[in-house]
Amino acid sequence: MSVESGGPGGPPDDFNLYNVTHRGEMPTLKQSQSRNYKALKVAFFTHPSDTEKYFVIGGEEIRKLNIFEIHRGLKCISSENFKIITRLNSGDLLLQTSSTQQIDCLKNLTSFGADKKAVTISENGALNKSQAIIRCREIMKLDMETIQEGLNDQKVVHVQRLKRRENNTWVDTATHILTFDSPICPAEINVGYLVVKTELYIPSPFRCVICQRLGHTKKRCDSKKNTPTCGYCAKPLHGNEEPCPGPVKCVNCLGNHPSSSRACPKFIEEKEINAIRVTMRIPYKLAREELKKRKFVQPAAHMKPTAPDNQSKKTFASYKANFCKSITKKPKN
Ligand SMILES: [Zn+2]
Ligand SMILES: [Zn+2]
Ligand SMILES: [Zn+2]
Repeated sequence: MSVESGGPGGPPDDFNLYNVTHRGEMPTLKQSQSRNYKALKVAFFTHPSDTEKYFVIGGEEIRKLNIFEIHRGLKCISSENFKIITRLNSGDLLLQTSSTQQIDCLKNLTSFGADKKAVTISENGALNKSQAIIRCREIMKLDMETIQEGLNDQKVVHVQRLKRRENNTWVDTATHILTFDSPICPAEINVGYLVVKTELYIPSPFRCVICQRLGHTKKRCDSKKNTPTCGYCAKPLHGNEEPCPGPVKCVNCLGNHPSSSRACPKFIEEKEINAIRVTMRIPYKLAREELKKRKFVQPAAHMKPTAPDNQSKKTFASYKANFCKSITKKPKN
């Protein structure tokens, strides 16, 4: 008998393909739902490489070119393939290099293709940086400038210390977020004479405190599109003095919880996109597509494991193990 996830006799609803993907770089769903999501441990680091960099080729001319013209133009820049090529919403082209030769060519690029179209070239600031967490008591009392100065030979360009709430005041912790001027974080760094392990930093999704929507902060809230909204009932903001008449409704998923709920399916989805974005080092748009693909992939009927029935008394663990085995095998066409 074949089963659908969440169906009768099937695995529980929280059993998700995300959990059993054979891509080693993904955190499991269990990890992604843990409270400690921000400091997610991902055993996935590669050593820092100077061959991977993100560039944007922009300008009116590039936006008019079709996919074949772009492909030919890229071949004029480098005979090797670029690791990632994607269109941004603006129509500009985002590229990830795979060699120092490609980096040098792009840095000196002034025109594109055989008919020398005028283009602009810039590095993508956000994608060429990465963030990691370290825990180190020895630097707890130092100011940020001293720490940054001590670490800048290891490409650290920014340091932030996390705080925690204690008796209504914020106190410093030994946890620091380091920003590296490199798309890849090192697995460990030298803090003075100590060697300290790093963990990938996966930021929490942004939520705007004005319109309550996910994906931007109040600084970037578009007042033409979004109006100030009550975080409890999702209706236009009715002032603090007036008690919220309810009923409770989320502006992001229309579910019956406040818009700030961390259990909101849209919030969880944004967390998953962030985890993919950071672990795979890809832009947001591609991370969203990747998540869609992972959720969409359902094993073909002949590959589905047998459901555990009451008589066989199989545990869910063994069911899951079977299921993992079956989906990591490629289907025969
Ligand atoms: Zn907003
Ligand atoms: Zn309200
Ligand atoms: Zn919601």
